[in-house]
Amino acid sequence: MTYSCLHTHTTFCDGESDVHTMCAAAWSKGFTSIGFSSHAPVTKKTGLTTGWHLPDERLEEYIDTIRREQKLWEGTLKVYLGLEVDFIQGLCGPADRDIQDLPLDYIIGAVHYVVSPKNGGLFAVDSPPEEFERGLEELFNHDGTALYNAYYDAYGAMISAGGCDILAHLDLVKKNNRRFTFFSPDSPEYVDRVEKIADLTAVARIAGTQTGGRSPVVEVNTGGIIRGRTAGPYPSLEIQRLLHKRHVPLTINADAHGPDQLGGGYEIARETMISAGYADMLIFEGRKDGRALWREEAL
Ligand SMILES: [Zn+2]
Ligand SMILES: [Zn+2]
Repeated sequence: MTYSCLHTHTTFCDGESDVHTMCAAAWSKGFTSIGFSSHAPVTKKTGLTTGWHLPDERLEEYIDTIRREQKLWEGTLKVYLGLEVDFIQGLCGPADRDIQDLPLDYIIGAVHYVVSPKNGGLFAVDSPPEEFERGLEELFNHDGTALYNAYYDAYGAMISAGGCDILAHLDLVKKNNRRFTFFSPDSPEYVDRVEKIADLTAVARIAGTQTGGRSPVVEVNTGGIIRGRTAGPYPSLEIQRLLHKRHVPLTINADAHGPDQLGGGYEIARETMISAGYADMLIFEGRKDGRALWREEAL
């Protein structure tokens, strides 16, 4: 299997190591490529201040640093420049003009925040356990169905708005489910919800191809496995089956926040994809004439 990771964080946001250390680790692990996907700045647009997004004023420095590193590794390791862009309903998302105009190799679209139907407050579904428990109680009255519905409403709106090359950790809302069991992934209501997301993804792929816009692929994200938060990858085997039926291709990413995490859980991801019916995965090959280039590789 070709090892690559387009979903990588550094000290520019909430990662442990700098860009060069991550490249060196990727190279020593036999990776053919690595892409950086700092959490895109949100403060200017939303007023949110967090400890995990790239500050607005460091965006240019981030871009310059990755481009410099790209030159340094020329002919050995392919280094790509991306961002993981938050979709926050009504506030910001990957389709925003300023994001689309950046000179990026790819854009990862992600939903971390949901809006509380109770008071409009923002709540990150992947919060640490104590914070999550408080949010579920105070903002969602302990209603796990309302929470996953808010999450998939946001996810669906992000897909429909377009502008993503990669859809991040599609069922991230399950991250705290292992501990708090606030919904059943086998319930008909949940299955119905994720089927609609799979439908929207398939439609967005076709629309992207027809209009020359971005045509999203889904990442199989091993971040939950690496950090012991989920037994399997994002998205689950069941959701991967739904995506396979709709001919949506997958790529594997570690959502690495440190050098040790690069490549972690890839075997599990591969086995899950095979069980879901996939024979191939996609490897990113850069951007040409405004389009993401992907190569198919047998699993
Ligand atoms: Zn994320
Ligand atoms: Zn990430």
